[in-house]
Amino acid sequence: MKNLLLKSIVVVGILFSSMTMAANRPTQEPMGGQEFGHSVKNIGNGLYVFRWWVYRNIFLVTDEGVIVTDPLNPKAAELLQTEIRKITDKPVKYVVYSHNHHDHISGGNIFKDEGAKFIAHQNVLKELGDHPSPVIPLPDITFEDSYTVKLGDRELELKYFGPNHGDSMAVMRLPKENALFIVDIVTPRRVAFRTMPDFWPDEWIRSLKEIEQLDFDYVISAHGPANEPAMEPASVVAEQRIYLEDLIAAVKVEWDKGVHSPDKLRQTVKLPKYKEWRAYDAWLPMNIERIWAYYHMAW
Ligand SMILES: [Zn+2]
Repeated sequence: MKNLLLKSIVVVGILFSSMTMAANRPTQEPMGGQEFGHSVKNIGNGLYVFRWWVYRNIFLVTDEGVIVTDPLNPKAAELLQTEIRKITDKPVKYVVYSHNHHDHISGGNIFKDEGAKFIAHQNVLKELGDHPSPVIPLPDITFEDSYTVKLGDRELELKYFGPNHGDSMAVMRLPKENALFIVDIVTPRRVAFRTMPDFWPDEWIRSLKEIEQLDFDYVISAHGPANEPAMEPASVVAEQRIYLEDLIAAVKVEWDKGVHSPDKLRQTVKLPKYKEWRAYDAWLPMNIERIWAYYHMAW
């Protein structure tokens, strides 16, 4: 009996530890291991946009090596490394994390193995301390307000605007193209992501207003399906901000009439101006529920 009990404890222990492992997402098999398409778009002058499913990053090829941004996940990072090898035999010297969320920054170990240094806002280090992952190397270089990565004839400017989506977001500026690479806080012609996880509406709008003041002509967004352009005009930043302002204002109209139930708000609030945007039918009700929390909880 005692032996059986001991055995059960061991089994429970193994089960528990494998459950704990499973909580470290994304794993080697992101999104359940399904096959997702990938592609590489050559923008010119050594700038490339890599897409895996609806995720994107940029990489810069120089005479002295390669600067990579968000490795995404172990599968995507492997594909990215293979694509880089088709272009250059120079090593990846830097990997830049846009922010702390694991769906964007997993999979960098293969670049660590080729000697890359990892760069991120200082709050990424703190977040990864609280939520470590075996597939996310810690940053070697961190910054507080801004930092410029220099390699060969290339510079990549990193700028922090305070909290908006998490509290470690780096907006990246390419001075040569006068373009920004923006992750999660600007997704052209799509309503906000589901229930807006880790998005803080007021801070998000404030950050977008500050980003609008930067010098840039183009935006590369980290999300978009294969049929969406890799580069967008600068106006998509203002369009994103105006969508959020419209969303908050539309919920407030109903709120002020006394509609305070999240379920009722989901049914009554409509934003027909955006009905052509991606995920309008599926995600607008979730966006509305998030704004219900904004009024209900002041969050
Ligand atoms: Zn994110």
